[in-house]
Amino acid sequence: MPKFYTTTSIPYVNARPHLGHALEFVQTDVLARYHKLSGDDTFFLTGADENSLKNVQAAEALKISTKDLVDKNTKIFADLTKALNISNDDFIRTIEKKHFAGAQKLWSLCKKEDIYKKKYKGLYCVGCEAFYLEKDLVGGKCPEHKKPLESVEEENYFFKLSNYQKQLEKIIESDTYEIVPNSRKNEVLSFIRMGLEDFSVSRSFERAHGWGVSVPGDEKQIMYVWFDALSNYITGLDFATNGHRFKQYWPCDVHVVGKGIIRFHAVYWPAMLLSAGVDLPKKLFVHGYINIEGEKMSKSLGNVIDPLELVAKYGCDPVRYYLLRHIHPVLDSDFGIKKLEDAYTADLANGLGNLVSRVAGLIEQNSVKVSIKYQVSSIKFMDKYIENFQFDQAMKFIWEKITKLDVYVSEKEPWALAKAGKTEELAKVLNEASNGIFEVAKLLEPFLPDTAKKIQDVFEKEEIRKGSPLFPRLV
Ligand SMILES: [Zn+2]
Repeated sequence: MPKFYTTTSIPYVNARPHLGHALEFVQTDVLARYHKLSGDDTFFLTGADENSLKNVQAAEALKISTKDLVDKNTKIFADLTKALNISNDDFIRTIEKKHFAGAQKLWSLCKKEDIYKKKYKGLYCVGCEAFYLEKDLVGGKCPEHKKPLESVEEENYFFKLSNYQKQLEKIIESDTYEIVPNSRKNEVLSFIRMGLEDFSVSRSFERAHGWGVSVPGDEKQIMYVWFDALSNYITGLDFATNGHRFKQYWPCDVHVVGKGIIRFHAVYWPAMLLSAGVDLPKKLFVHGYINIEGEKMSKSLGNVIDPLELVAKYGCDPVRYYLLRHIHPVLDSDFGIKKLEDAYTADLANGLGNLVSRVAGLIEQNSVKVSIKYQVSSIKFMDKYIENFQFDQAMKFIWEKITKLDVYVSEKEPWALAKAGKTEELAKVLNEASNGIFEVAKLLEPFLPDTAKKIQDVFEKEEIRKGSPLFPRLV
């Protein structure tokens, strides 16, 4: 049986989840569900990045312990995975013992000559937990946070990234580690070709406030949070004990990340693995960002959309639908409440929901016998969309089927057939429509799992009933 292992990035838990997290959860969930449905032995890992200095600072400001802060915040992310019906097999927390042990094992496996100690003075962004070079700044500020950087001087461990320049260029150019989309691959290649600088992989115990994974054999140093966080992809598979999961699922088939952390995943992560002699992941899929009503999402603008509130108001599948259909898989997209409501009404309530209740209602009224002759193989129609991460195109393909079925029912006028007593023809039309709807429900399984199940339940019953609407009208 082929295996499939996929991951989301693990979010910092120093703030509440935003719509970008929801997008990444849902995209990755589609990949995992699709592979499970296709019969692959699938493992889907998500989790929380808890060892960040930002958590220490946030806890200090709230006068609570860092542990209490991460417990509380991590739970909100775990709640979001439940609200969105995410099918993850595990949720790794980086404060877990197995994570500490795994991160330390990875460090210890790195070639001795790749990790060295040096005095370092650099420009540090607390937001990114990363050092920046002058040339990477925008207007003297962090390109991500648009904030000034701190000048930090201390003795740290460094990773000899320069040792891997040629090798990294080769594995990315040849798609040995494939980066999707191609524009992101080119971005990474040109970054590598500009020359790779060694990067800091630890910080002092003091600056870390003692929070994080200590460097093996040097208690005075705490692992740089990115070194620790990236290792979650293997520590969550019980890398520390070389467990069954690691042997079965590694290397990762698809890491899903946002464009802001591409360098960590496309350059640092494979270099760390090469140094440690661990197999490389196969693919990195990079999604875009979501803007809110034409503006960049930001706390200071007060336009952050809480995905938990969206799900509470509109339901899980409508939010999943919007993220998959109307947010471009790789380009930046705009989100607006009106757009969400328009899509809900047009595509879900009037589109799919109306078709299902119209056909089920006609069957119920006329006591028609329906038999579903569904071919399991039609899930394969989705292959090319899933392989190419074209979630929006997949939804478009399914909604074209829905439209065709709608047109079919309108043209055949089954209500007129019923009135004229043409029972045989009526049964034929409603059987055709029911089988079409059932196929749509099968195709929808990885995307809108709950809706897919509800529709199948309606049409698999001995006696089909109209029931309550799948998508109640918005008031
Ligand atoms: Zn920053």
